[in-house]
Amino acid sequence: MRSVRQILKENWPQYLKRHAATYHQKREIQKMVDCSKNSCNSRICSSCGKRYADTWSQNLKDNLHPAPCRHVVLTAPSLLRPILRDWNNLNILLQSSRDFFRICSQINS
Ligand SMILES: [Zn+2]
Repeated sequence: MRSVRQILKENWPQYLKRHAATYHQKREIQKMVDCSKNSCNSRICSSCGKRYADTWSQNLKDNLHPAPCRHVVLTAPSLLRPILRDWNNLNILLQSSRDFFRICSQINS
């Protein structure tokens, strides 16, 4: 199977003969075509994009608590909602909740 880079490498010069491209488009395509083991950081490079996604995923995995459930919904009774509209109070609730779940994950691991 041919990669997007290989397809562009083979067809980009012919494309440019028939179509206009901006300086930015030409630069990004060229960076992608020339990309090797060193990252080109082109926004359209599938190799660099996969590498970035893999690194991001691993960083996320390393920083998450080892718990089977990662989504928690906190609800508050309507009586408390005016109090929680104050960012300081809401922050106290969220930090306390985070600490509670951190302790729970440590107990279960
Ligand atoms: Zn690249």
